[in-house]
Amino acid sequence: MGRVQFISTNGKSPPVTFKDALFKGQAPDKGLYMPVQIPKLPPETIISMKSRSYSSIATDICYSFLQGEITREDISMMASDAYNFPVPFDNITYLKHIMRLDQGPTASFKDFAARMMARLMRYYLENEGKELLILTATSGDTGGAVADAFHNIKNVRVVILFPKKEVSARQRKQMTTLGDNITAIAVSGKFDDCQALVKQAFADPELQHLSLSSANSINFGRLMPQAVYYFYAYSRLTSGFGEKITFSVPSGNFGDLIGGVIAREMGLPVSKFIVATNENDEFPKFLETGQYSPILPSRNCLSNAMNVGHPSNLARLVWLYGGNMDASGNLLKQPDMDKMREDFLAASIDDKLTKNTILMTYDWHNLIIEPHGAVALAALEKFNPDGVCVSLETAHPAKFPEIVAEMIGRDPELPDCMKKNEGKEEKYLEMENNYEEFKEFLKKT
Ligand SMILES: *Cc1c(COP(=O)(O)O)cnc(C)c1O
Repeated sequence: MGRVQFISTNGKSPPVTFKDALFKGQAPDKGLYMPVQIPKLPPETIISMKSRSYSSIATDICYSFLQGEITREDISMMASDAYNFPVPFDNITYLKHIMRLDQGPTASFKDFAARMMARLMRYYLENEGKELLILTATSGDTGGAVADAFHNIKNVRVVILFPKKEVSARQRKQMTTLGDNITAIAVSGKFDDCQALVKQAFADPELQHLSLSSANSINFGRLMPQAVYYFYAYSRLTSGFGEKITFSVPSGNFGDLIGGVIAREMGLPVSKFIVATNENDEFPKFLETGQYSPILPSRNCLSNAMNVGHPSNLARLVWLYGGNMDASGNLLKQPDMDKMREDFLAASIDDKLTKNTILMTYDWHNLIIEPHGAVALAALEKFNPDGVCVSLETAHPAKFPEIVAEMIGRDPELPDCMKKNEGKEEKYLEMENNYEEFKEFLKKT
C-alpha cells in the first residue's frame, strides 16, 4: 500500500501527507483533514491483538497511516514510550464494562492523544532541525495533557491560555508546575476569549515567522491515537473475531467519537456507537430530526469538558456519511441520515441523571466515576444493548472532587500523578483579555 494522503472535508485544498496534516492542523480551505482512504487491518491482525500489549496495538494502528513516512521501529519506540501506564476495565455486569482512560500522567483521556502527537512532532522536528511554538487555549483538561506531553521536548515551546477563574486549582497546577518550555497564561476572561486570542494569533501575518502550531482536537494527529483504545477494548473483552461490540462515548468536540469511527472503518466489528452528550443536545436532536442547529452559547453542565454547542469534529462525521458541513455548522449537503441512524444511538443526559448515575454506580457496584463517564454510562443504561458494551471513563474522579464527594459522601483518592503537584510551586503569567498584549508577549518569546 502507498502512502496515505489527507484531503480536506471542504474539498478545496490539495491533498497532503500525514506530516503536513499534523503541523497544519486545519486545511487552508478551513476544512478538516481526513485520509482519502482509511486503511483496513486484516482480521488476523485484529485477532492477534488479544495477546499483545497496548503499545504494540498502537504501533499497528499508527503504522497503517504512516507507512512510507516513518518506519515501524520508530513508531514502535514512540508508542512504548507514550503508553507506559495501564488501561484497566471495571465490570458493571458480565457484558457491561467501563474502560478507564484516566490512568495517564494527567489523569485525563487526552493523554492518549497528546502523548503520541508530541512524539510524532518531535520526530519530524529533530529530523529537520526545526522549531515550533504550540499555542493552546484550554477550558481545563487539554492544557494539562498538552503541557505534560510536550514538557522538555526539544525544539518545542508551549504557550497555554486558560481562563483565570474557570479552571480548578488542580487543573491549573497541571499546567503551572512544569516550567521549562511550558508557559501558562491566566487570562482575565472566559474560555472563548482564550480561544479567540489563539485564533487571532494564527491569522496574524506579523507572527507567521514563529511557526505556530495548535494541538487542539481538530488535528488528525490527535484523532489517530484515539482509535487505538477501541481496538484494545475489543481485544480484551470479546472472545473472538466477528463478535460485535458497542461503545458509549461521552462527547464534546467529538474527537473521541471520531477515533472510534476510524477504528470501525479500519475493520473493528462495532455494533453501535452511543453518542452521549450532556444538556448540549445538538447532536441527539440532529440524529432524530435531520436538522442541525448549534447551541449558542453552550449550556453549562457538570461534565464541563463537554459543554460544547457545536462539536468541531462533527464536520468529519458528516463527511464520512456523504454530507458536507462548514465550520459554523451549516449543512451544505445532508449526510445519509438513515445510515447514520443504523450506526449511532444518541442521548442527552441532564445533570440530575449524571449525579444519580455517580451515586448508583457507587452504591450498586462500589465503583467511583466522574461526571463525563457518568454521562456515558447513563446513556448506555438507557439503551441497554445486547452483547459486549463498553462505557468510556475519560477523567479521574479526583479531578471533580466536589461533585463526586457530594454523591458518594467522601473525597475520591488523589492519584499519584496529582498528589505530586500539591506542594509544588506554581508559575504563570497573568494577562488581560487583550490581543496586543498577547502579541507583544509572543514576539518576545
Ligand atoms: C475532552 C473531554 C471529553 C470530550 O471529548 P471530545 O473528544 O471533545 O468529544 C470528555 N471527557 C473529558 C474528561 C474530557 O476532558
